[in-house]
Amino acid sequence: MINFQADYFDGVSSRAVKVEIEANSEEITFSAQNVRHVFRLADIHVQPKLGHARRAIELSNGGRLEAGDITVLEALKRPDGRAFFWRWLHRLENHLGWALFALMLTLLAGWGAISFVIPALAEQFANATPPSMEHKLGEQVLAMMDEQVWTMGDHEDQASLQLGYFKPSQLDQARQTALSEQLKALCATLPDCPAHELEFRGGGKVGANAFALPGGFIIVTDELVALAKTDMEIITVLMHELGHVKMRHTLRQTLQGALSGLLLAAVTGDVDSLASGLPAALMQLSYSRQMESEADAYALTSLQRTCVPPHLFADILQRLEHESSTSLPEIISSHPDNQARVQPFLEAKLDCEPKPGLAQSAP
Ligand SMILES: [Zn+2]
Repeated sequence: MINFQADYFDGVSSRAVKVEIEANSEEITFSAQNVRHVFRLADIHVQPKLGHARRAIELSNGGRLEAGDITVLEALKRPDGRAFFWRWLHRLENHLGWALFALMLTLLAGWGAISFVIPALAEQFANATPPSMEHKLGEQVLAMMDEQVWTMGDHEDQASLQLGYFKPSQLDQARQTALSEQLKALCATLPDCPAHELEFRGGGKVGANAFALPGGFIIVTDELVALAKTDMEIITVLMHELGHVKMRHTLRQTLQGALSGLLLAAVTGDVDSLASGLPAALMQLSYSRQMESEADAYALTSLQRTCVPPHLFADILQRLEHESSTSLPEIISSHPDNQARVQPFLEAKLDCEPKPGLAQSAP
């Protein structure tokens, strides 16, 4: 049993009567002008609390009670969904700090999932993926990028061959083999060179570029070969890509993109864009700064071990940066500050004699 004071309006007169309310878990009772009133708690409606206004209790006889503090009465009344909502609204209103805190927490959780949880999961999945499966994935991705589609216009002469991202390479087979053999020969002297396959393509819109697909496929565009002044410059870029292959960065990034997409689809319910966006997502795939640093570190060590002057990497990167107009090549896309990045390659010393003819970069 609880007691509290209230003003009673009988619904007819605008005059308030001071009354003493008695409430228990079933009903409230009070006397006004010698009439005893009894109302079941289920039949009365307590107006939501907003700010510091007095609270009104609507009665089933058309009358109304007004009181300053009726928290105890609310505690007696069984909470329904509406009451719960209003209580929360009131709490949020009174505790803006808590509301901001809740918002921060939500953002932090989302950021945490994207920055830490998903990359960690992707790494686990990548490690658990059998190399044969990764190789198959790489083949399929390459096939998608090479895809040729015939589009038919209204007239026969409007038929055109629409290519995927790549055109067939214009380099003759002997040149392709020579480059592959040079890389293979250097790789054989390294203790940790991963299995890989060079794939030569005409870059088209992609331009001068080299990048690793899942499964050890490394795409080299004709434009990159043309841009290089020596074969050893191409080798330095390929050493960087081999770093990505060795640490399975492409598979990790692909899985990470897929997991983020799934998370987004779970939140937004939009599954279609997840499937349709895959080929484009693979083309826009960029590695994290950490992955780029790891690939650079692998390249630098490998170049020193195979006696290829590391400054050649800086040379070709600089040319790439100046001459690539459309899309940024993989190798420089994640690096806003390429000067700082190539510094270790410029300062690195060789304790061996580079093979003559191959290593010099032409003036
Ligand atoms: Zn890279």
